[in-house]
Amino acid sequence: MANLPVMGDVGGVTEELAGGGRTNGEAKAPAVRHEDAPRPVANVLSRFKPGPRSIWAGVPDALWNDWHWQQRERVIRLEQLERVLRVTPEEREAAVKTEAEFHMGITPYYAALMDPEDPTCPIRLQSVPTMGELNILASDLEDPLAEERDMPVPGITHRYPDRVLFYTTHNCPVYCRHCTRKRKVSDPTSAAAKRQIEESLAYIAQHTEIRDVVISGGDPLSLSDDRLDHILGRLRAIPHVEIFRLGTRNLVTLPQRVTDDFVYMLRRHHPVYVNTHFNHPKECTAEAFEAARRLADAGCVIGNQMVLLKGVNDDPAVVKELNHKLLLMRIRPYYIYQCDLARGISHFRTPVEAGIRIIEALRGHTSGLAVPQFVVDAPNGGGKIPVNPEYVVSHEGKRWVLRNFAGKQFEYVEP
Ligand code: SF4
Repeated sequence: MANLPVMGDVGGVTEELAGGGRTNGEAKAPAVRHEDAPRPVANVLSRFKPGPRSIWAGVPDALWNDWHWQQRERVIRLEQLERVLRVTPEEREAAVKTEAEFHMGITPYYAALMDPEDPTCPIRLQSVPTMGELNILASDLEDPLAEERDMPVPGITHRYPDRVLFYTTHNCPVYCRHCTRKRKVSDPTSAAAKRQIEESLAYIAQHTEIRDVVISGGDPLSLSDDRLDHILGRLRAIPHVEIFRLGTRNLVTLPQRVTDDFVYMLRRHHPVYVNTHFNHPKECTAEAFEAARRLADAGCVIGNQMVLLKGVNDDPAVVKELNHKLLLMRIRPYYIYQCDLARGISHFRTPVEAGIRIIEALRGHTSGLAVPQFVVDAPNGGGKIPVNPEYVVSHEGKRWVLRNFAGKQFEYVEP
């Protein structure tokens, strides 16, 4: 597999974006010593085990815990993958045949969580290419959520009245095989250039109805602290912007990214919400716990957006265990998404009833805090529609007709 071509990559940080100074010329704040912070009680911590190190067992802690090292050492080629696990013939063929469509990229931390012998391991299914990705259905869509159609300027999707999605980078530490934005994520030619970021900020400044900005990508934590500080500072300077949300999977795939300096920087921009994307309890390690602890201790409100994936988490017991662990990590289960219609992910799609069954198994049976909302992010720009009776217009066989907040109807067809 060819080396992942990342332009001017500085440990996964696009050089162009890694620049950009601090907003106010302040000297860099001294690091907060997290060793001094109050520790969670022992019976909570004991439920979270450190992730294994696999072939990286001899790597010194200082390197293992350095997010730049984790980015540099990503598994991006088949021969690297062969050293980490027993690759099946099917995975080998898929790694070659999917290369042009969507790159492979797995941090050592996340790769070490994979079961080296079991191709049905939930971590492996999310990060190692499989032949299912080559099965393109007639109902698959290049841009399943019509995010490009609702772009007034490149880099901003403005669909809902008072909030926008702001794309800041197309890099991610791990390229999830179920990614809804595979059309551009991992493709350096589609990366957000500095000019695009400026135009996006100008659009937000001009539109006084925008009070909530979802900072997304790719993964915005692929940017340097200074670059993020700059973007957040610029957003905070816009009087009508009330809150922003960082959409990041780094807590799951690269928890080392959540450093003391990073959370210290975030504290300057509150209120900061963080939405992350845990899909399986195996992802809830001591490292992930520590990343969530730092964010929560710094005052961030953290929510989880799980995607319902066949063979990974389409089981009420798995979701219940996941949500209980998330609550211990001070992460509120927020959404369960029905897997969308992105190209080449139909092997992950479940019937909509699978999500309904999960919610039924949770509601009343466990804390309401552990019960997220199950939504279909409707094709063709319908937005997130709760799978509740008042929003289901009709359901016949595999065909669901749903009504969104604006009263418009959208169809979702199961595979
Ligand atoms: S972290 Fe998010 S944007 Fe990046 S590959 Fe995974 S699902 Fe896609």
